[in-house]
Amino acid sequence: MNNKNEYINYENNSKDKKQVLNSNTVLANIETISNNTTTIIMNGNNKAPNANNSTPTPTSTSSSSTSSSPLSTSSNIEFQFEYSPSRVHILVADDDVIQRKILENVLKKFHYNVHNGEEAWECLEKGQVKYDLVLTDVMMPEINGFDLCTKINLHPVFNKIPVILMSGTAVDYKCANDTIKIGGQDFLTKPIAKELLKKKIDTLLGSIWQKKKEMEYKSVLAQEREKGSLLAKQMKLKEHEIEELTRKITEISSISKEAMETPLVSVSRNIEELLQQSDWYKNEDELKSKLTQVLKELGSSNIYRPSFDKLIKNDSIDQATKSFLVTEFSNSTNRRYSIPTFPQAPPNKDAKEFIKAWDFDIFKYSEDDLMPFLVDMFENFQLLTIFKIPIEKLQRFIMAVHSLYRKSNRYHNFIHAFDVTQTCYSFLTSFNAAQYLTHLDILSLLISCMCHDLNHPGFNNAFQVNSQSELSMTYNDVSVLENHHAMLTFKILKNSECNILEGLNEDQYKELRRSVVQLILATDMANHFEHISKFQHHLNSSEFDRNKKEDRQQILNFLIKCGDISNVARPWELNFEWSIRVSDEFFQQSQYEKVCGFPVAPFMNKTQTTRARIAADFIDFVALQLYQALAQFLVESKILLDIMSKNRQNWQAIIELQKEGKYKDDLYFIKEPTLMVQNQKLAKINECDVPLTPQTSK
Ligand SMILES: [Zn+2]
Repeated sequence: MNNKNEYINYENNSKDKKQVLNSNTVLANIETISNNTTTIIMNGNNKAPNANNSTPTPTSTSSSSTSSSPLSTSSNIEFQFEYSPSRVHILVADDDVIQRKILENVLKKFHYNVHNGEEAWECLEKGQVKYDLVLTDVMMPEINGFDLCTKINLHPVFNKIPVILMSGTAVDYKCANDTIKIGGQDFLTKPIAKELLKKKIDTLLGSIWQKKKEMEYKSVLAQEREKGSLLAKQMKLKEHEIEELTRKITEISSISKEAMETPLVSVSRNIEELLQQSDWYKNEDELKSKLTQVLKELGSSNIYRPSFDKLIKNDSIDQATKSFLVTEFSNSTNRRYSIPTFPQAPPNKDAKEFIKAWDFDIFKYSEDDLMPFLVDMFENFQLLTIFKIPIEKLQRFIMAVHSLYRKSNRYHNFIHAFDVTQTCYSFLTSFNAAQYLTHLDILSLLISCMCHDLNHPGFNNAFQVNSQSELSMTYNDVSVLENHHAMLTFKILKNSECNILEGLNEDQYKELRRSVVQLILATDMANHFEHISKFQHHLNSSEFDRNKKEDRQQILNFLIKCGDISNVARPWELNFEWSIRVSDEFFQQSQYEKVCGFPVAPFMNKTQTTRARIAADFIDFVALQLYQALAQFLVESKILLDIMSKNRQNWQAIIELQKEGKYKDDLYFIKEPTLMVQNQKLAKINECDVPLTPQTSK
């Protein structure tokens, strides 16, 4: 360390010429310098880059920010390992101040950042600067270069810092060898040529940084590759999903294609089969049968139905899709009244006549049998023609009405509704009431009769009010059920498939609606005596004026009331059956009232009355006065008073027999409610959300 020269004296060491100490390294080369001097570059211990420890300090002017790779551009990663002397921090450890200053000046000229490493270890430990290289003299009083190098290499953090040893004295092969052993990067002999020094440092650090850069690239590449492979996997999955979907679509489309072709194919096949037979025209029965089949298939409004069903049953279609198909493409759901299943009329040519009869035996017929009679009634008054009502619409209307009556009711069911309609029809025809009315009045009356008890729960208004049912809330306790029946009537009529009023002009519709509502409300027994006295008063004071709507409406209201309580004026057998039914319903209600703690009307209470008493009282206090007025209005109806009187006698006879204990009145159809089911039943009784789905009556 005595050489004050700016230049390091190279020792001509021919022995070490081109000596490669480790041929497996990037830096494995021998730098041949001019003047026949050789420097051994040893990189067997080439320090591994460590981003945490030896990442070059980035500067604001760092070139790294502008030198990103295509990969880094794509992934927004900047590589900080661009080598530049200005970013290199070198710790120079040399006890010879002059030598050190010279070296520092040389290094500074090359734009390295140079730090005085007089107390090298302390400098490192302070950690203020992250050194990229330690340049140390071998012979120093405090610690010699080899020891410093060893200490650095053993340190967990500093061991990444490369160390170059220098000596002006210990220049022999052994020193170089020792340098390798202790993990030094290079050994230089003083005086060191400054260009050589620069080259050496740049080569060493450039290589290390290059290595770091490579590793960073590799790491980024690995990440990208991982991302790529993940993406590829996802792509593969998506591709698989698409393939699966395509397969399903193809499958479904082939099924639907098959399904769509089937009815036509079937028609064609039937005709083909027929024609292929040489004597097809001779076998009349088969010909008929085949042609009927063809016509059936062609005439069906649901020509694709069987195929559609097949499609729906296919397992490869999931539930959601099936439900979508059924909702959107099937017309057999509850959305429409499209089932053309109106019952066929019984083959009776006299039907149009005998439905006018007062002794029409309603209990001989099923509900399906009764429905076509209603069409007859409309036809008899030419209402279909006059009000442009398509017969299918009338049939659908009747089916919808039928479906809204509760079969579970003993009395207030479709049969009662039909009975009231038939009674009024009888008044209109057999008893000549029609002469006072218009066709629109008759249309109103027939509709009202059919609908006047729609969805009757089998429990009267008093029960609705006492149980504070949903209906009583809706109609504020006033004519609760009648309002409900009228509301449902127009709910059905609002459905275009059942709307038999479409042919009416606006005025006709308004008049009919007003009339129907009044008619149905008139059946509320709460206003019974008011209706009678008003009608009686009119009868006694003036003629009914056919030109006055109010007069006609009063007649209509009166007729429907007579129709609603006509049972006691029917022939005995019919009266008896109706009386059994109505008392059954009364007794059932009273049972519920007892269980619920509601007031029980004595005329409904089985322990306080009998069927015969109910019927007799009904004639005495309700029906007689009404039918007396009717007899005054329709002279031909006087006969009904006779029938009623006979019935009254029969009931009285039964009452007498009962008093003597000779007649038992305990044949009850209704089971008594139990406490356990009463709440549930009550809810059911009061339920008023009625689906408007027509049903076939079976
Ligand atoms: Zn009724």
